[in-house]
Amino acid sequence: MKVLKFGGSSVANADNIKKVIEIVSMEKDNDRLIVVASALGKVTDRLEESGKMASHGNERYKQILKDIESLHLGIIDALFPLKYQSETKAGIKMIVNELEDICLGIFLLQEINPKIYDPLLSFGERLSGLLLAHALNFYGVKIRLLDAREIIRTDETFGHAQVNFEETGKRLRQQINNTEEHIFVSGFIASSANGKPTTLGRGGSDYTAAILAASVDASVLEIWTDVDGVMTADPAFVESALPLKKLSYSELMEMSHFGARVVFPPSIQPVMKKDIPVWIKNTFHPDAPGTLIDRNGTPHGNLVKGLSHIENIALLTLSGGGMVGVTGIAARLFSCLSQQEVNVIFITQASSEHSITLAINPPDIEKARKAIEREFESEVKLTIIDALQVEQDLSIIALVGDNMKSSLGLSGKAFDALGKNGVNIRAIAQGSTERNVSFVVLKKDVTKALNVLHERFFLARYKKVHVFMVGVGNVGGALLQQLNDQYDYLKKEYALKIKVIALANSRRMLFDEHAIDFKSRKKRLLSEGEPMDPELFVRKMKALNLRNSIFVDNTASAEIAGLYEKVLKSSISVVASNKIASSASYLTYKRLNDIALSMKKKYLYETNVGAGLPVLKTISDMIKSGDKILRIKAVLSGSLNFIFNHFTEDVTFSDVVAQAGEEGYTEPDPRIDLSGKDVMRKILILARESGYPMEPEEVIINPFMPESLMNKPSVETFMKALSHYDDYFEKLRKEAAGAGKKLRYVAEFDNGKAVVGLQMADASQPYFQLDGKDNIVLIYSQRYDEQPLVIKGAGAGAAVTASGVFADIISIVNQ
Ligand code: ADP
Ligand code: ASP
Ligand code: MG
Repeated sequence: MKVLKFGGSSVANADNIKKVIEIVSMEKDNDRLIVVASALGKVTDRLEESGKMASHGNERYKQILKDIESLHLGIIDALFPLKYQSETKAGIKMIVNELEDICLGIFLLQEINPKIYDPLLSFGERLSGLLLAHALNFYGVKIRLLDAREIIRTDETFGHAQVNFEETGKRLRQQINNTEEHIFVSGFIASSANGKPTTLGRGGSDYTAAILAASVDASVLEIWTDVDGVMTADPAFVESALPLKKLSYSELMEMSHFGARVVFPPSIQPVMKKDIPVWIKNTFHPDAPGTLIDRNGTPHGNLVKGLSHIENIALLTLSGGGMVGVTGIAARLFSCLSQQEVNVIFITQASSEHSITLAINPPDIEKARKAIEREFESEVKLTIIDALQVEQDLSIIALVGDNMKSSLGLSGKAFDALGKNGVNIRAIAQGSTERNVSFVVLKKDVTKALNVLHERFFLARYKKVHVFMVGVGNVGGALLQQLNDQYDYLKKEYALKIKVIALANSRRMLFDEHAIDFKSRKKRLLSEGEPMDPELFVRKMKALNLRNSIFVDNTASAEIAGLYEKVLKSSISVVASNKIASSASYLTYKRLNDIALSMKKKYLYETNVGAGLPVLKTISDMIKSGDKILRIKAVLSGSLNFIFNHFTEDVTFSDVVAQAGEEGYTEPDPRIDLSGKDVMRKILILARESGYPMEPEEVIINPFMPESLMNKPSVETFMKALSHYDDYFEKLRKEAAGAGKKLRYVAEFDNGKAVVGLQMADASQPYFQLDGKDNIVLIYSQRYDEQPLVIKGAGAGAAVTASGVFADIISIVNQ
């Protein structure tokens, strides 16, 4: 025999029921079937709600009963032709009448307890049983409806009754022998020897099916639900969860005990005992392979099979000097809890025996607190045990897998991934079977933690990266374009999804946790954006608490640079094309780098020098590999180089400066370039990256611009005044050209000293031949002492700078 169980969503409406009928019809001729079904989706919840309402004297419970009735009658309308409807409808109405009586009783007494809840909740399965059995028969499956209350015998632990397997088996076999037909039994419901209706616990239809399968030694138990099988994690929390092909009973048991609702936990025991294979299949996708669960699982598969979690738990900690070395404390603790029927989900004890921490369901807190305070009253009075500590708003996550025991370092891997994403771990426990490593995190972190772990342990369909970008001008705009252009490629080739979650310019900011679409970004920023408030931007970004978050600063703003510390401390990496922070005081520079290191986050600013050229990375790699930087000579201003290269006899200096500005080669205020300040910052950063703790004031700037010009109050007045100096610059140009030289703005660092200034370079200099906006960096080190290591290429412009920022983002993602 085969047992097929269909869950609430599989039978939620007429269309779904048709799918169930198709599945049963396909299997009906191959084997004798026992079909088990839940109440129609959500009906049990609604019954519970109606009971609560009635017990509070709220007459609106009647509306719920009406809704339940019309749900069933509507499905009959849809499934049966008119002339076949009346019998089924009459059956439904009779059951609904009984339901109305029970609710009226609750309403009059204004009282409800587990003893009454069980008969009340049983109506969902009673109604669905009648409807489904009739429908199956109508569509050609000869099936006999058995009343589960006549088959499944339990004790009177209402709400989660204990099954008498022997009696249940006997009753089922008797019924089966009475007929040749297939058998239909409602899930979830049962009755006691005294004939009192009981239930097996919410979600218990799986258990009914497993009990029946074990009773008849079924060849297989198929659990048909609304997902493609047991997934690597709860798909409601982890979008990229994948269905598992095979699991062992023990693995499924661990997963379901730790919150994977896909199978009701006690269901595994009866089938495991009889070695009956279990398939989890999708009613809405019957061709998907599904998950097979048996004794063996996959001995050589992934070490971590799945992640499961319980979203809401409370931690209780009992501690105190008086617990050390004293026997029986743990026993007393657990027995006082078990007497109060408090389910303990998780236990850890420090090896010092100074404290015991356990996790329970939050509704049990008061019961547990009272029991423990009573039990340890005298010790607390004597102050040898501290007052019980209760923590709430926590979740438990478990890594599950049979093969984890033979592998080292799994917890390390998990904690490393979580740490890098700023997820704090409150407690850890590992089952002695090592089939389960569980840890407690803050509830607000659970989605992030699950996704981080999923990306760490599974060949996830993709890794998601969340970008928060401030500055959407030249560089920011180009970066957004590149992120958009590369989106499909990165997704396809590298399983990376880089999503832009927030955008801001100096006026407005826009957040969309599902990502801001490239095409509509400008319009949305304008119409939906709120006023830009940098501190609020950080708070919002933090509150979203998304994994793999990166803050990208493409502004030239000191205020935004001032946010990095806070951002890094929120476990969010920073990528900046903004040079202000890395060229501020050495203390600031060092502090940010130290914070990044201690938070295991990245603080990257490769584009601060040479735009997209890999200058800082090269220096860092040289140092890491044991080299020492001795000297640097560089032309670091793409802007100035652009200006001097375009400054020919045909144009004036002021025109070239204006053109450089228009084409995005200078800072918004070109004086930052012309004053040498920008180059000063760059050589300072190079010196620091080379290991020299230098301050900005220590860099000597040899100015070439007349001072009066530099003091103009605005960019406009400066540009106007600049044209009056065209003759002065023309003279400079002629002088250089006459001597066969070129004007180059050169930065030099040597032996701890840095100088920047305008030079006239002759053809023997490596930076004589430097086109357009190119940069060149010559690095002399212990290894490159005679011939320097040379990095040369475009060192300014929105596109190359954006690509450098992009490269920083990718390097964070791949860390
Ligand atoms: P049914 O009504 O068929 O009994 P349930 O709602 O009880 O279905 O269980 C199926 C649901 O379990 C899925 O829709 C999914 O949201 C949830 N679930 C949680 N964890 C997992 C997991 N690891 N694998 C599959 N489903 C899971
Ligand atoms: N209908 C019951 C519930 O919702 C049992 C089940 O669906 O398995 O809990
Ligand atoms: Mg279920």
